Amino acid sequence: MNDVCGKRLPEILTILASKDYLAKMYTALEDDGIASVIKIALDVVRNTEIVPLPDIRRKNSDKAASFIYEARAYLRSRCIDVALEKCNEMLLYAPKNSDHMFSVYYFRAKILCLVKAAIAGLNDIENCLAVMKPQDRDALEDLMKMKKELTSILPFENIKNLALQSSFGTDYFTFNMKRNKDINCAIADIGVVRENGLPKVVATKNIDVGKLVAVERAYVTHRNDMNQLISCYNCLKFNLNLIPCDGCCYALFCDEMCKKLCMDEFHRTECQIMDHIFPERSDARFVLPVRAALKMKQAKSWDELVAASQDLTADKLRNRSDSEIYDSRNTFSILNYNNGKHFVHGKIFNQSFYYAAIVNRLSEIPGYYPQDPKKRLEAMYALGSIMLHLFVTYPFEIEIINAAQNYLTNNVTSEPEPNFGWFSFANKLKHCCEPNLLVVGLNDKIGLVAVKPIKKGTELTICYM
Ligand SMILES: [Zn+2]
Ligand SMILES: [Zn+2]
Ligand SMILES: [Zn+2]
Repeated sequence: MNDVCGKRLPEILTILASKDYLAKMYTALEDDGIASVIKIALDVVRNTEIVPLPDIRRKNSDKAASFIYEARAYLRSRCIDVALEKCNEMLLYAPKNSDHMFSVYYFRAKILCLVKAAIAGLNDIENCLAVMKPQDRDALEDLMKMKKELTSILPFENIKNLALQSSFGTDYFTFNMKRNKDINCAIADIGVVRENGLPKVVATKNIDVGKLVAVERAYVTHRNDMNQLISCYNCLKFNLNLIPCDGCCYALFCDEMCKKLCMDEFHRTECQIMDHIFPERSDARFVLPVRAALKMKQAKSWDELVAASQDLTADKLRNRSDSEIYDSRNTFSILNYNNGKHFVHGKIFNQSFYYAAIVNRLSEIPGYYPQDPKKRLEAMYALGSIMLHLFVTYPFEIEIINAAQNYLTNNVTSEPEPNFGWFSFANKLKHCCEPNLLVVGLNDKIGLVAVKPIKKGTELTICYM
């Protein structure tokens, strides 16, 4: 613990010692109370300059322009994949509907035309036309020429796509099985039994090898940094037509619908504090609690969130129903994990300031917290407690390794890196080094497949390694 929020420890300790903060923090840590730790951290953050301001990334034409030179250079040396990534980096910084946005869609369409990616190329020609200004009309002839060329090869691509769709990927993850009534993501042939009051998931009928037992969408995901410029921020899909977030300079989406879904779930809030979430810590362990808490808030009222935060140390696994624990349709299911307190004081000490800083930063968003000062503070404590609680109680993220990829992307990018996610159901299955279920990933979903015959009554297990 040499470094807290980018400051050296002696410096931090001096600030903390100055107002008895350190003594208060130690007492809170000894009491094992997450709520009191976050209260003190928030107090410190609000009254000291303990957390330095990060560099703020803003939409910027000059910065956007620098990437187009790089993209051209990579294209000249036939590094198609890097050229595409540079285009996408440019998209992140290009102001909305600017000349630069036109240039980047135009250039990306040219690259896609070159690699004969018909659907993606035609999409980018549409993107181009949508932001085109009268002075860009010189480009129109060229665009129409590309459109003609791509349209002529479109039928071949459609046939390839149809072949792809009828194979493994799409069919497999449609999951047309009889669903479990309590746990919607799983088949009817599993159930929850209680042992000394604690739940465990078992097979209620014999399950054969190869059977798909569950298909679950992640409650929240963390995209690997390596995939930032080639996949969708929300659904993690590899895509050649990524479009930028209008607000931040971090998120690219596969299409407008996915962008809207992400906004509605959590990004509307997250977008406004991205620089504070991501300065040096884009580690899944740090970021997933923030995203999960923001998602809970976007779905629930402050009163509901405060109530949930005051219930964090309760014996949740004994007192909650099976569907409250395992079904992701319950917004708070991700909180119903275990009752163990794995307090590692140094880690909590560091992390409490990070979450307190984010909670404090959110107060700059007009109307985010309640108006009433007492309720406002209560809301801030609740959000911070939930973040710190999730950080403390969740031991593993599940790696999502894509089993199927767009064949077009295969042509132009190297092997994908795994992304990470938290799952209401899968994350609560027991770990075993020789599990009976295998985790197969596709975008932001995972499928759980039986890799051994599972006898009726046997507990379901996965391997987190
Ligand atoms: Zn998407
Ligand atoms: Zn954004
Ligand atoms: Zn293992």
